[in-house]
Amino acid sequence: MKPKQDTLIVTAGRHPDVHFGVVNTPVYHASTILFPTVEAMKTRSQPYTYARRGTPTLAALEEAIAALEGGAKTVLTPSGLAAVSTALMAFLKAGDHLLMVDSVYGPSRHFCDTILKRNGVEVEYYDPEIGSGIARHMKPNTKVVYAESPGSISFEMQDIPALAKAAHEGGAKLIIDNTWASPLYFKPFEHGADVSIQAVTKYLCGHSDVMMGAITATEEAGKTVLATHGALGMTVAPDDVYLVLRGMRTLSVRLERHMKTGIALARWFAERPEVARVLHPALPTDPGHELWKRDFTGASGLFSIVLKPCPDAAIAAMLDHLEYFGMGWSWGGYESLIVPQDLHGIRTATPAALEGPILRIHAGLEDLRDLIADLEAGFARFNAIIG
Ligand SMILES: *Cc1c(COP(=O)(O)O)cnc(C)c1O
Repeated sequence: MKPKQDTLIVTAGRHPDVHFGVVNTPVYHASTILFPTVEAMKTRSQPYTYARRGTPTLAALEEAIAALEGGAKTVLTPSGLAAVSTALMAFLKAGDHLLMVDSVYGPSRHFCDTILKRNGVEVEYYDPEIGSGIARHMKPNTKVVYAESPGSISFEMQDIPALAKAAHEGGAKLIIDNTWASPLYFKPFEHGADVSIQAVTKYLCGHSDVMMGAITATEEAGKTVLATHGALGMTVAPDDVYLVLRGMRTLSVRLERHMKTGIALARWFAERPEVARVLHPALPTDPGHELWKRDFTGASGLFSIVLKPCPDAAIAAMLDHLEYFGMGWSWGGYESLIVPQDLHGIRTATPAALEGPILRIHAGLEDLRDLIADLEAGFARFNAIIG
């Protein structure tokens, strides 16, 4: 019987039998790996040949992520963004056409608008809510449809099976950035993806102390990913891998709490007079709720709120003195975060129609009552400015 997900989180990638019974895979610090004979060197007839191409430590994490995502093969990259750029480079060359979602993570968009365009790839942004309408944008040279669901900052849900169908009918691959749901709450390969990307930096690591990415692929797409990953010289540090493996074992219990606190905060914000809208697909009022319910098994702790129009000074008064919500990039650690965001002038396919400024919130593992008290005090400072 295939182990259930929570069992997999605990067991995947672990081989105590080959490590003298030690529960966790040891940290192999290596560059050179020795061959016993000329013959072995010529035929590369051993599992590890050079540390840039793998060690038992890296293999443990690759195996675990592949198992959780439900893909055939995983490779690791020095950041989530490097996973995005490597996956795109693996499938695109000069003259190819890329369909990129308009709500994509900002630095991924920057990579497309600079390196990809400079190298002759035609980049077209599409409406995240396009669904099967994507078929009308497919061209004979479309090689990749790229999705991120829900969208960065704006949280639109995407119809992944519809995108997969259109991509495959047109001979293109579907690449998904699956960071928001983590491999636990969305199974990309059961919904038609060829490649799934994780910013491991976020929930898999979970402790705000490692930069890393992962690309997981089907057997067939995996060969293309591996070739490009190898050619680019992508690798990661073993101590970082150890930290991720350690953090990952508690992913399920952490995520459950991130989800609960995130939904509770989203509901609380929805009742506030200062808030125009809450962008969280797990709320029944959200336009993406039906897709989320159909395809996802949970929500992470990341969502946004759209404030009613207000002066910058009110936002500064609120955020500058919060006690438990930190202001900083990234998310997925154990701590709560809040960041002001601006989507104006970024979108090209579907300008985001927003009533006012956006705040993106990451619900950490603190007590909900402390978080709400912190935000209540913040809104009191906000309202003192507005008068
Ligand atoms: C953070 C993030 C990335 C990039 O990860 P880094 O490790 O910061 O490079 C990619 N995609 C999404 C959706 C992210 O949130």
